Parts: sequence; C-alpha cells; structure tokens
Amino acid sequence: MSPTSPPTTAAPTTGPAPTGAAFGSVFGPSMAVSRFDGATWSAPEVVDVASFGMHPGTHALHYGSSCFEGLKAHRFPDGRVVPFRPDVHIARLRQSTARLCLPVPDAALVARLIDMTVAANEAVAPQPPGSLYLRPTELGTDVTIGAAASPSVTAVLFVLACPVGDYLPPRPLTISVETVTPRTTPQFGIVKAGANYAMALPTIMVAKERDGADQVLFAPGGHLQETGASNIVLIDGEHLVTPALTEAYLHGVTRDSLLRLARHLGWTVEERGVTVADVVEWIARPTAEVALSGTAAVVAPVGTLVVDGTPLAVGGGTVVQTAALRAALVDIQTGCAPFDW
Ligand SMILES: *Cc1c(COP(=O)(O)O)cnc(C)c1O
Repeated sequence: MSPTSPPTTAAPTTGPAPTGAAFGSVFGPSMAVSRFDGATWSAPEVVDVASFGMHPGTHALHYGSSCFEGLKAHRFPDGRVVPFRPDVHIARLRQSTARLCLPVPDAALVARLIDMTVAANEAVAPQPPGSLYLRPTELGTDVTIGAAASPSVTAVLFVLACPVGDYLPPRPLTISVETVTPRTTPQFGIVKAGANYAMALPTIMVAKERDGADQVLFAPGGHLQETGASNIVLIDGEHLVTPALTEAYLHGVTRDSLLRLARHLGWTVEERGVTVADVVEWIARPTAEVALSGTAAVVAPVGTLVVDGTPLAVGGGTVVQTAALRAALVDIQTGCAPFDW
C-alpha cells in the first residue's frame, strides 16, 4: 500500500441484531471448501451454500467417515468478527479425522477455510449476544460401498456458517442420569462424529419421555462422563469440580476455557473422577450449582438431576456463580475483556 492510499479498513459495522430462529436452522450465504483427491488438497474457494451433488454410494453416507467441529466467531466492539480459540478446534478436527482414518488437513488449511467463511458471511454475523456459529465438516467422498474395511482416500472439507442468537435455555435444565449405557464407544470418545450423537439418541429419547428430561448425563458404572452434547461442571461458591478427561468422552473447548478462567479468578478447580454418589452429595448443599458447557449454550445451569427415577433439585436453585462464569467468558469471547489462553 502506498503512503497515500486511503485506509482499507471499513468503518466498524455493528452487524444485524440476533434473530430468534432455532439454533443452526439459518445459514449464511457462503461457505469455504477444499477437496482432497487422494494426493493434494484443492485451493480453498468460497461457494454459495446450496445442495451439492453426492453419489448415493459415497463412503461417508455408508461407513460413517464424517466428522465436524463447532466454534463461534464473535463481533468485537471494533466491528471485527473474530473466531474463539480456532486453533484448539482445528487441533480437535485433525484428531477426529485421524481417528476416522480420513485425510488429515493441515491446520493452516482449516484456519484459512474458517477465515474465508467468516469473511464471506461477515454481513450476517450478528452483534452480541448473537454470533456466527461455524461448522467445519469433513466427509469421505470415495464412491464405493465395497470399502467397509478401508478408509476413504478422497474427502471434502467445508466450513458452514450460521448466524445464531443467545442459546441459553429459558430455564434450568432437567438432566437424567444414565448409569448403564456409556456416552459412546471408548475408541470414539474424543472424536466429534455424528455417529456419537446417533448412538446417544435412544437413551435421550427414553429419558425425555420417562423423566421429562432435556438431556442425559452418561455415568456408566456410576462414573460421570458427559451429557449427549456437553461437558459438566459442579460449582459451589468459588470451587469447581469436573470429571477428569479420559478418551471415553469429548474434551470440550468450553470446558477447558472455563477451567482456565476459574483458575485465573482464583477459584479452586479440581479435575478428578466424579461418581453419581459424589454428585448427589454435592447438590444437597444449599449453595451447590451444576452446569453444562459447550460452544452453543456456553454454560447452561442444571436445575434438576433425575437419579434412579427420582428428581433431585440442585442446591437451593441459585445460578449466581454459573451466571458469573458465563458472563466472564462471554466478555472474553466478544473482545470486551482480554485473556491470554
Ligand atoms: C462438541 C461437544 C461438546 C462440547 O465441546 P465444546 O468444544 O465445548 O463445544 C461436548 N460433548 C460432545 C459429545 C460434543 O460433541
């Protein structure tokens, strides 16, 4: 740029107001995409979001060679739209693809696709508390139904965007505790794959019907893992306890962010084995809180745990510490407060 060029930065835009549409049901107009042909990834390009052709014999449709990520880009006070901790999400996507024996994209390629999708959908990125939810996805695209025992050599990688509002549930959640069925198979715990969601569905449907539950907390053998789509934290004053990470369930970026933030705030943070008996004891304290963590809802309070068919209220119903932690994290995500991860 010559010294006399006009500034290329546009005046900060505030972005549209968040809408009340159901989470993930409205899509931004454009997505970035790259294809792997077995040897190299194609140059990333931005295309219109539209139905795309796929042979009915595509590997991903038959043998589960698909995985995804979910992260948010937030509109900062200066108008920029900035993804939250994309490097951690990219590392997890690469881990998921590796576990599925899919082509593992370079971190730089995924970062480029994320940036291109954000730039292409900048105009629809809502102002806080809304955000642009990003969905990097990789699918195995070999056309063969004879490859049940071999991976897809070719793949497509794309990043969808959805303008979303504040996804905090309108009331504290009711969570049913499942002590037999695990969250997923041990070898898929740390893979963000659609199969994990499908696997949890029958258990969730029963809990909804039987217990009026919103979600299921998987605790096979009485040992807490996570819910169908989020990690769990127990809070009491400035004390936070969460199940220690194992490969049996997903390592949430929100979980990691909350722990770092709580430690930074001087809270006592414990990562350890947590049993259903521990939780029942915990929630009997009047100041106890329980919260679920995930990118979509950030942190959502749990009001009731259903254990062996009995609904148990969490503490005295206060969510003050959960709300404080959520507000502190959202401030960082939206560029209102600095934080060095
Ligand atoms: C995505 C996901 C989470 C939450 O992870 P974040 O990185 O915090 O969004 C938790 N559990 C499962 C099963 C998930 O798929």
